[in-house]
Amino acid sequence: MNHSGTTPTATATNIDGVALSAQLRQDVTRRTLALKARGITPGLAVLLVGDNPASQVYVRNKVKACADSGLHSVLERYDADMTEAALLARIDALNRDPCIHGILVQLPVPAHIDANKVIEAISPAKDVDGFHIASAGALMVGQPGFWPCTPYGCMKMLESIGYELRGKHAVVIGRSNIVGKPMALMLLQNNATVTLCHSATSNLKAMTLQADVIVAAVGKRNVLTADMVKPGAVVIDVGMNRDPQGKLCGDVDYAGVREVASYITPVPGGVGPMTITMLLVNTLESAERSA
Ligand code: NAP
Repeated sequence: MNHSGTTPTATATNIDGVALSAQLRQDVTRRTLALKARGITPGLAVLLVGDNPASQVYVRNKVKACADSGLHSVLERYDADMTEAALLARIDALNRDPCIHGILVQLPVPAHIDANKVIEAISPAKDVDGFHIASAGALMVGQPGFWPCTPYGCMKMLESIGYELRGKHAVVIGRSNIVGKPMALMLLQNNATVTLCHSATSNLKAMTLQADVIVAAVGKRNVLTADMVKPGAVVIDVGMNRDPQGKLCGDVDYAGVREVASYITPVPGGVGPMTITMLLVNTLESAERSA
């Protein structure tokens, strides 16, 4: 299969996030067992404030993934009226708890709590979501630190197909702090030439048509259609949306773009499963560093 991003292929090959996750989780399980043999069990604390239904599903999935790979996890649920001070005090205690190597506060938090304050309260050594300003700074300057799980998962997907980013043009659509911006920095660190697009980009198609790699992280269906993709490009779809029938779909017109791209990530079964996997990887790495 062509990795150069220049030769058109008939139908794109799927990058299967479920299969890649399973492979990476086997490695997590193996390394977790090795740590346990030394008396250390990697531990993740997941804090949920309020009863947002989507958040409840996300935290359950994270806790289950920990159990499946042999990591210890605690799920702490708090009422929506929990004070900011109480949440910060709880984070402070977890920062000092030697059994906990990763701390994650499920976002969004209720409006009376300052999410930035909460993120900054987590010790950078336990910031397995990679949202702390110290983690962002470390990524910015190329120092070791925790990478945000979703773009980190996208990098693993590119790695899984042996894609050489050096000298390639990568276009990222979306500039959020948790996906788009860190994605652009990771691609840059791997020697791609990066264009970061957003809602004020005046001619998105002119940008994407130049791209060897496109990462769509917008949250809108059909932001990327076949006419916007150079033949042979690799397309990573981070978006999670619902189509008019209520079915989960990404930002990319999958049916059209797969006829033009060389590789594509499906939704569901693409980036989604990778995000939780990279959370396990970060938590394990935190435990390994503490050992
Ligand atoms: P976000 O914070 O809402 O950011 C969306 C970005 O898209 C913004 O930078 C925005 O530009 C840009 N944008 C909006 N409309 C655009 C347009 N027409 N053309 C180009 N850019 C446009 O969203 P997010 O948190 O990054 O998430 C993006 C998507 O990924 C969502 O569907 C989310 O559910 C999904 N997601 C999936 C996972 C996963 O595990 N699979 C994880 C995280 C997020 P401005 O900055 O100018 O407003």
